[in-house]
Amino acid sequence: MKSIAVVGANLAGGRAVEALRAAGFDGQITLIGEEPWRPYERPPLSKEVLWDPANVPDNFFLQDEGWYAENRIDLRLGVRAEALDLTASAVQLRGGDHVRADRVLLATGGSPRKLNMEGADAANVHYLRTRDDALRMAADLVDGARIVIVGMGVIGAEVAASAVRLGCRVTAVEPLAAPMIRALGPQFGHWLGEEHRKRGVDTRFSRGISGMKVTDKRVTAVQLDDGSLIECDAVVVGIGIEPATSLARDAGLTTNNGILTDRQCRTSNPDIFAAGDVAEQEGFFGGRIRQETYQNAADQGQAAAQAMLGQTVDYCKPIWYWSDQFDLNIQFCGHIPVAAKVTVRGDMESNAFAAFFQAGDTIEGVLTVNRAPDMGVGKRLVERRVAADSTRLADPDFSLRELLKAAR
Ligand code: FAD
Ligand code: NAD
Repeated sequence: MKSIAVVGANLAGGRAVEALRAAGFDGQITLIGEEPWRPYERPPLSKEVLWDPANVPDNFFLQDEGWYAENRIDLRLGVRAEALDLTASAVQLRGGDHVRADRVLLATGGSPRKLNMEGADAANVHYLRTRDDALRMAADLVDGARIVIVGMGVIGAEVAASAVRLGCRVTAVEPLAAPMIRALGPQFGHWLGEEHRKRGVDTRFSRGISGMKVTDKRVTAVQLDDGSLIECDAVVVGIGIEPATSLARDAGLTTNNGILTDRQCRTSNPDIFAAGDVAEQEGFFGGRIRQETYQNAADQGQAAAQAMLGQTVDYCKPIWYWSDQFDLNIQFCGHIPVAAKVTVRGDMESNAFAAFFQAGDTIEGVLTVNRAPDMGVGKRLVERRVAADSTRLADPDFSLRELLKAAR
């Protein structure tokens, strides 16, 4: 094998090319990205970049500018890969160039789902995925601005917290009964909704939007499905992503809610691999899932690189993510099983607690709020499917570390 092309130059693609060189691959590596930037971090886009857009954090990029040249990575930025030419073993770029590749990694991520109504493309309606999106949004999140947030998943909840910090007046509209309910379940979704309300967010749960009032190409009010009209200076929409599967689908690879991969990160074509938000992989608790988390994109990108080089890879991990909102560091690992037994450890009142979600006695999910050390152990309890007595888990003096040791 002489050449590898990676399509998608962000986290999964960036970590993959690093891992290829770290593993000693000496052939041609081409990293193709539609955005004009070398791989960078998205987590600061809903936080530090909104708070202070002129001072993007030092560690914003995955690597220094010179790293790619030093490591002989042919960076093709600001150009879209338009097709996979399987007969010629090549990736076809917009503009006509072909990049020859014996193996290809698809790390194309996803893009924000758009609202389908009049006004959705107005200049003051914001979606958030890229650095450019964040800079445009930051210009509207100014002291006193009236901001309507549509969808209170992770983007909605994090931007609501940042907007309050910047002095905006925030109304958040979410069709489900609480924010981040898919990720946190109803009990902790309601807890989070209350934390937002206490800090000044006007929360409208179990509500959708039915229209937007547009004046001079700007949205000036959002109409809710209960008939209320909320005047605004800008709208932030966070209603999920659409995985970028079109290259794979057009090339005849098997896709569903993502590009189907096996535990070697291989697609239905043995020379094409996929990783990150776009990959639909085997779920740790069965079935197939697409993970939309930082850690998965980083780890699966590396795993795919190793698999492309013929190393033994068996990638199947539980979900782990974090979210910072106000003074809350929220982390979650695993999943919430059906009819979960839920045990809280610590103090929900003072926002320093962990929660365990058990199927029978087996710990399948752990949530921590401002208790990061518990997550350090909690992740391993989930990965090793450790069983525990729930009354002991509730006892803050009971050592999780000892539980992990005993399970070995
Ligand atoms: P992406 O980051 O989407 O990168 C895919 C890249 O491929 C893009 O640059 C795209 O332009 C490019 N591309 C697509 N199609 C083509 C093509 N045909 N040709 C060329 N290039 C193409 N996760 C956490 O766990 N914690 C957090 O706190 C957190 N914060 C986040 C904050 C924000 C604002 C966002 C948007 C995400 C956050 N995430 C967080 C999620 C995490 O950043 C993503 O899971 C991760 O970026 C996924 O990486 P990826 O490389 O798979 O996809
Ligand atoms: P999401 O899937 O987390 O949440 C979408 C929310 O929008 C849900 O609560 C849903 O009920 C609601 N919704 C759906 N359709 C709607 C509609 N028509 N009107 C109003 N509400 C609607 O997606 P997101 O919050 O948009 O996040 C997008 C991506 O960004 C994800 O991949 C996410 O993982 C990533 N992200 C992650 C983090 C983190 O992990 N800390 C932070 C920011 C962004």
